[in-house]
Amino acid sequence: MSESEWTKILGWPGYRVYRSEINEEAKTVRLWVRRKRGNRKLECSGCGRRIKEIAEVYEREVRDLPCFEYRTTVVIELYRLRCPDCGIKAEKVGLLPSKAPFSKRFEEAVGQACESAAVRRVARQFGLAASTVRAIDMRYLQRWAQGRRRPALRQMGVDEIYLGKQQRFLTVVTNLETGEPLWFGGERKKETLDEFFEKHLSAFQRSAIRAACVDMWEPFRQSLEQWVPECRIVYDKFHILQHASQAVDAGSRQAASVERPVCSEPAHSQSLSPQGEPLTVVELHLRRRHVAVLAELDRPVALAAAETDGETSPHVTGSSRGHLELLPDEGTDGSD
Ligand SMILES: [Zn+2]
Repeated sequence: MSESEWTKILGWPGYRVYRSEINEEAKTVRLWVRRKRGNRKLECSGCGRRIKEIAEVYEREVRDLPCFEYRTTVVIELYRLRCPDCGIKAEKVGLLPSKAPFSKRFEEAVGQACESAAVRRVARQFGLAASTVRAIDMRYLQRWAQGRRRPALRQMGVDEIYLGKQQRFLTVVTNLETGEPLWFGGERKKETLDEFFEKHLSAFQRSAIRAACVDMWEPFRQSLEQWVPECRIVYDKFHILQHASQAVDAGSRQAASVERPVCSEPAHSQSLSPQGEPLTVVELHLRRRHVAVLAELDRPVALAAAETDGETSPHVTGSSRGHLELLPDEGTDGSD
């Protein structure tokens, strides 16, 4: 096959194949590519600025999608640039999103496979180590998270996940309208939630939050009061019932005091919905969302846990499921 035919089949925009090698025994294809003549816009990978001065030419070999039964790798000619701001830096190449030896579309294929199969199976399918598949999937998810538009946060959920004796708690912020986990913080202090409000939302974004569904954990309430004073606080029924049953266990005097637990936040808690739905309806609505959120947590929790401490905690999945098992019980009170 001619080099120009390989160029077409490879389909890397802006690059042409100038050499190819087929190994029938090993069933591998190796292609060497360099920039097409018209493709001379070089960008610094440090700052994104356009650079003309080339300091060095070098090669990188990455794995790409297979060609029929042949495992395919591409050797790409790259430049190190002399950036006035960053010094000598590699050029930015969209086809190579990380320092790992894989093309972007190869990583995408692996990440997509991870959406419907266990890591070990994906590893076998692509002939990769399981740890490599996990790393690829993490980058895939991070790129996906960066590239998309986030819907406004108007109804937020704040929850804690118990991770076991060592790591203790993780605070989870979710968008209750989309059912999506947004942020994870270590521990469950006021400072934990403060960090979310301070670093991840602008004043404008905070002002858009109309309601927050939280468990009855005082530090969270204090943080909400400080950062989103206009927001209504709704306690989720599971935690109210938990508190109630604890109080009943503790004695009849305390039991009497939990008859109106929802009203413990008088200024904010009458109704969650802007449409004025009754509170019970809203609570149930929220609770279902919560269940949905928790059911979807596995991969995003793994992502967040890895961002927090640099590796995926094996406790996370188990504990979020454990939490989930508790939730269906709350629906047996006949209010459905
Ligand atoms: Zn630069």
